[in-house]
Amino acid sequence: MLTPQAKKRVGIVAIHHESNTFIPVPTTLELYRKSIFLHGAEVTDRFSGAHHEIGGFLQVLSEAGIEAVPIFYASTAPWGAVTDEALDTMWSTIVSGLKSAGPLDGILAAPHGAGVNESRPDMDGWWLGELRKIIGPEMPLIATMDPHVNLSPAMVEACDALIAYRQNPHLDQRQRGIEAAELMLRTLQGEIRPVMEGAFPPMAINIERQLTFAEPLLSLQRELDSVRAHPGILSASLALGFPYADIADMGSAFVVVSDNQTELAREQVERLAAWLIKNRELFRGEMISPEGALARVKDSPKPVGLLDMGDNAGGGAPGDSTVLARLCQANGSYRTLFYVPDPESVEAAQAVGIGGRLSLKVGGKLSMTPDVPLAVEGTVVSFHDGKYTESQPRHGGQTGGDMGPTVIVKTDDGFTIMLMSRRGGPNGSIQPILACGLKPADFDIIIIKGVHAPVGAYAEVCPTLIRVNTPGVTSADMDSLTYRNRRKPLFPFEELP
Ligand SMILES: [Zn+2]
Repeated sequence: MLTPQAKKRVGIVAIHHESNTFIPVPTTLELYRKSIFLHGAEVTDRFSGAHHEIGGFLQVLSEAGIEAVPIFYASTAPWGAVTDEALDTMWSTIVSGLKSAGPLDGILAAPHGAGVNESRPDMDGWWLGELRKIIGPEMPLIATMDPHVNLSPAMVEACDALIAYRQNPHLDQRQRGIEAAELMLRTLQGEIRPVMEGAFPPMAINIERQLTFAEPLLSLQRELDSVRAHPGILSASLALGFPYADIADMGSAFVVVSDNQTELAREQVERLAAWLIKNRELFRGEMISPEGALARVKDSPKPVGLLDMGDNAGGGAPGDSTVLARLCQANGSYRTLFYVPDPESVEAAQAVGIGGRLSLKVGGKLSMTPDVPLAVEGTVVSFHDGKYTESQPRHGGQTGGDMGPTVIVKTDDGFTIMLMSRRGGPNGSIQPILACGLKPADFDIIIIKGVHAPVGAYAEVCPTLIRVNTPGVTSADMDSLTYRNRRKPLFPFEELP
C-alpha cells in the first residue's frame, strides 16, 4: 500500500555581515542583538513581504507546498570585524536550532559573504563549512549572497549553489531568493543536480565601477547572460568584491552552477574570469576630488547629490565625515542638506527646544572620521522620532528603519542639518528625509553617504549624482588604504603580465 509522501521541509539560516577591517571598532554581539536577531517564526514575520531574499525563499516554498523551517537570521550594519563572542553565539544558536528543527530535506542560507571574524577571516566560508559538516554531503545547501562578497573557495566547497544579487544597488534580492529556492525545489524533485565551480581572477573591481546599470558592468552582465543561456547551466554570478576587508580572499570572482556537468561549469567560469582580466583597465575607477566635484555643481541640474565615497555608510564608514560639508560651507553659495549621526548634538538641540538658537560642532567625532566637526550657528526647526517606512524595493531589502530621535536645524549659512541619534538614515531611502518634513527639491546639494546603494532612491530626486573621492575608511582610492593580507599580485595594485 502506498503511503502519501511526507511534506518536504527546508531550513532557512543566515548570518549577515559586511566587515570593514579598516575600522578599529569591532562588531559585537550587542550590535547584532540591537539590530536584527531573529529565531524561528520571527524570521517569517519580518521578511515574508520584504524585497529580500528570505521573502523570495518563503514565497517559492509556500507555493510549492514545502514547509519552510526558519531557524535563525542575524544582521547588523557594516562595521569592524565580528567578535568571536558574536560569531560563536550566533553559530551555537544555529546548531541548537537545527537540532530542534526535526528532519530537513535541504537548507537555504543567506550569508552576506563579506563577513570577517576576529579569528576566522573568511567568516562565511567558516560557518557554511561547519553547516555542511553537520548536514552531511548529501543534503542540498543553496545560498544567496551579496555581490560585495569576497568569495572564497571554502564557500564554493560548502554549498551546492551560490547565487549573488545581480544588481548594485541591490534591488533584486527577492528575485534572487526566488531563483535560489526554485533551484532547491528542482533539486528536491530530483529534476536537477547542481554542481558549482568558482574562479578567482587576481583583480579587484574598484568600488566606483560597481554600478550595474552602467558600463563597464553592462558589458560584463551580457557575458554573464550568455553563460546563463547556455544549455546545462543553471546559474552564473559575479562577485564584485568588498575592497575594505584586508583578507586573502578580497577581490572579484565568479561562480557558475551547472546541472551535474562540472567540466561545463569550469569552462564557463574560466571564460568569465578571462573576460574580466582582459578588460581590467575599464575597472580602475574615476577619482573626482572634492574640489572638482564642487566646481561641477554650478552648471549641473539641481539638487546635486554628492556621493561621499570615503564615508560610505553602506561600506561600514561612520557616516559623520564633514569633508564635503566643510567644503560646501566654505563655498557658501548653496542650500545644502547634511544628515549626520550625532547624538550629542541631538541632545543639545533638545535642550534649547524648537525655535531655540544654538552653536554646534556637528559630526567629525569618531576616531576614524577624517575631518574635524562642522561648526555652525543655527535655529532648531523640528523634532522627529526618526522612524520611517519604505515600500519600494531599495538596497538592503528592508521595509523601514529607525534613526532614533532626530532634529532638523537650519543654520545661518544656508545648511539644513538633520541630526540623527543613530547611524543609518537616508543612505538607501529618501523616506527618512520626507519623514522629517523636508523636500529634496528644496536643496542645491544633498551630501549622501554612499556610492551606489543610494542610487535606487536618489536617482528619482537628484538629476545629478557625483561620486566624490573623499578620504576615509571606505576610500575609493584603494592605494590610500594599507593592506597586509591581500593576495599578490592583485590588479590594480600590481600590474598583471
Ligand atoms: Zn552589497
